[in-house]
Amino acid sequence: MEKVTVSPDTEILYQGGQVRGETMHPETPPLYMSTAYIMKDLDELHETNSSGGYSYNRTSNPNRDCLADVITSLENGQGTIICSSGMAAISLALLTYAKQGDHILASLSLYGESIDLLDNVISRYGIQTTYVDFTDLEAVRKAVRPNTVLFYTEVIANPLTTVVNIKELSDIAHQASALVLVDSTFTTPFLIKPIVQGADVVIHSLTKYFGGHSDVTAGSITTATKELLEKVYNIQVLFGCCSDPFAAWLCLRSVRTMSMRVKQQMSNAEKLAAALQAHPRVLRVNHPSLPGHPQHELAKNILTNGYGAIMSFSVADDRQKLNEFMHALRLVKYLPTLGGYRTTLSHPVSSSHMGVPEEVRLKMGIHEGLMRISVGIEDIDDLIADFTQALNVF
Ligand SMILES: *Cc1c(COP(=O)(O)O)cnc(C)c1O
Repeated sequence: MEKVTVSPDTEILYQGGQVRGETMHPETPPLYMSTAYIMKDLDELHETNSSGGYSYNRTSNPNRDCLADVITSLENGQGTIICSSGMAAISLALLTYAKQGDHILASLSLYGESIDLLDNVISRYGIQTTYVDFTDLEAVRKAVRPNTVLFYTEVIANPLTTVVNIKELSDIAHQASALVLVDSTFTTPFLIKPIVQGADVVIHSLTKYFGGHSDVTAGSITTATKELLEKVYNIQVLFGCCSDPFAAWLCLRSVRTMSMRVKQQMSNAEKLAAALQAHPRVLRVNHPSLPGHPQHELAKNILTNGYGAIMSFSVADDRQKLNEFMHALRLVKYLPTLGGYRTTLSHPVSSSHMGVPEEVRLKMGIHEGLMRISVGIEDIDDLIADFTQALNVF
């Protein structure tokens, strides 16, 4: 696209449509499933390799490039690679930017499988991880070690929705010559652009808001510099954890409506949070839009367009009643994903925090009666009505 300054809402519609070398001009890029490309002769192979053309799918693919261009633009990065899943992106980034003898400083409230990965896989390669509450910047400063090479965090934590100050965290990291890696899956570029705040690497599980329709698994890594991209790209080619072209094609299709979806989801979340907070059977609601939220002011300052569409709420610790509540919901379904077009419910104690020892998770505030909601694009009055009637089982 010609370099004109437009809003992200417009940008997302116009980026990433052109395939290099394509002579026709389809409105939507064709799907390139080919695993390899015929080379006329040695000169063409040389020319292809030196000009970033296409020769082999694991190395590069037009559909992944189209999607990568959109994400780079949305994140204000210098480049993006598309991976086979969010976890593939996280594994690849950690093994690229840390090596034997290094230390990773990670947020206490990372995605559950990221913690599993760090503790049970990455640790086997001589890379040590310690965890700290990233909302406590003084504690972060104290936890830095001489061999800390990476700070790894999310912006809004699951399921209690605490908010991390990426700008200040990046300052601390950079003083220690460490990189900042942000998993921005929950936040999306519509809420925050971590690279603008100082982060070096941004990861998304595209399975969630970018895909948005619960029908595609993919991940992305966007970097603040070309050097960081080259490093991770070279290792991606060796690991072979690129996404399937069709997954990238589906994500690009979905990205065109992402701005509308995410904004509607965030607007619904704010209204639902207020309604749940007013419900007599609800003990507590966690959403950064609420004035009682511990980082409400920070969220107001650093987030744009809303406060995210993930929230959680507490009811009585009664498993039987929780089951009755799920049966009573007429629209909202219980399933282990988020970011899709419909509102979904999950139960942290039996999913994301299943592996966390009881006393630790209770200290964190994650108890039996805590439910997480990923808010969808439904009419908000229908959503509020569904929750309100179902909550009366308590
Ligand atoms: C879902 C998720 C992941 C993992 O993504 P997959 O695409 O399922 O591999 C990582 N981080 C966060 C915050 C997630 O929500």
